[in-house]
Amino acid sequence: MESKIRNIALLGSTGSIGRQTLDIIAEYPHLFKAHLLVANTSTDLLIEQARHFIPRQVIIGESSLYATVRDALADLPIEVMSGHQAIADAVTAPEVDTVVTAMVGYSGLESTIAAIGAGKDIALANKETLVVAGELITGLLAHSSSHLYPVDSEHGAFYQCLVGERMQDVDKLILTASGGPFRTTPKAELATKRAIDALKHPNWSMGAKITIDSATMMNKGFEMLEAKWLFGVGHDRIEIVVHPQSIVHSMVEFCDGSVKAQLGLPDMHLPIRYALGLPGGRLATTGRKMSLTDYASLTFERPDFDKFPLLSTAYRAAEQGGTVPCMMNAANEIAVAAYLRDAIGFTDIHRIVETTIAQMGNVAHPTYDDYVQCNNEARARAMALITHP
Ligand code: MG
Repeated sequence: MESKIRNIALLGSTGSIGRQTLDIIAEYPHLFKAHLLVANTSTDLLIEQARHFIPRQVIIGESSLYATVRDALADLPIEVMSGHQAIADAVTAPEVDTVVTAMVGYSGLESTIAAIGAGKDIALANKETLVVAGELITGLLAHSSSHLYPVDSEHGAFYQCLVGERMQDVDKLILTASGGPFRTTPKAELATKRAIDALKHPNWSMGAKITIDSATMMNKGFEMLEAKWLFGVGHDRIEIVVHPQSIVHSMVEFCDGSVKAQLGLPDMHLPIRYALGLPGGRLATTGRKMSLTDYASLTFERPDFDKFPLLSTAYRAAEQGGTVPCMMNAANEIAVAAYLRDAIGFTDIHRIVETTIAQMGNVAHPTYDDYVQCNNEARARAMALITHP
């Protein structure tokens, strides 16, 4: 790690990953400075974070909340802005070294593209960016000095297992899944499960949207697509294995039959710390560490594609490519939001995603505008399926 303090632009500072990223910035004040904090609507926490970390800039995505944030920070030397164009502009500023993309859903795409255009390093926590537009993003990265470092724990594990290896020696990526809160729930009972049941995740403390995605295992389907684009490995060589203890964060199987695994506590501070340490090296911590003897039994089982059909949806979307993953993501965002407000049942999420995809035509090699159009259309179609099932 070079001695210069790295300026971090943190998009989504008030969410679960954003808050944990600020913990890491606070843990290594000689290495990192919060330069830019961005939140969509959570003004109270954003103001509290800004008063604590004193970033150069703060952006509230929702323009109607601008005056609230500006007035609350008026006594501090912080520039307050609002709106989505301001985010895309701020991440390209010369002072910014690393952009942490921790916002939820499709909203991460535009600012990630802007950051790549400006050659910024990106710690990618917003997996939807690659799910939706992996082909576009990897194409842009190939012509940029940007590096993309995964924050997702599974992809951080792949990255660590692949250090010093040649990609042609990789046989497959083995993506571990906790199985979510409904792993042992009989299929027949799933239809009656409400959001409040799904939000009780056994291992990981995460935001509401990703916790529902974990319950449907859509999250694992997204992570398969994320791995495909991050590491250039076809979906047919990415295997999902359910590992309820969430200690093995993922594995790589090589051509000689050897398997490397990365282990650690189920705590997002670890992958965030690793991603922010790149490309320099690991950041020492006095935080809690794992003792394998506390986990006498690590178990592995096959995922149930019948009970969690969104896994099949994701593999099919990976195979079809084009704008199909974008449709899948958009319909899922709408369906999960509806499920969180108890407007639909658990099994309706899959039905809405599949029906939306079936209604739309695929664009094989999409441009940015194609993704925008596809996202808007899929959201509208999914919304119509909720209001008029
Ligand atoms: Mg993950």
